[in-house]
Amino acid sequence: MSACNRCGRKIKEENGVPKEGIFSSACAFGYHSHHDGEIHSFSLCEDCYEDLISQFRIPVTITEIMEWL
Ligand SMILES: [Zn+2]
Repeated sequence: MSACNRCGRKIKEENGVPKEGIFSSACAFGYHSHHDGEIHSFSLCEDCYEDLISQFRIPVTITEIMEWL
């Protein structure tokens, strides 16, 4: 069972498949960063994701999954 890192809410799953959209991200920090050599990862529920991207000055890039595969 995964949870949203921001609000802590558990994300419902059915047979191991999430019942809502989850944003997952990982970043490997290299030289010259404050987290040199660390990999940070987190997940956001759909509500927190919407909230986060609503603060972006430049909107997210949207690509249809079928084009991306
Ligand atoms: Zn959340």
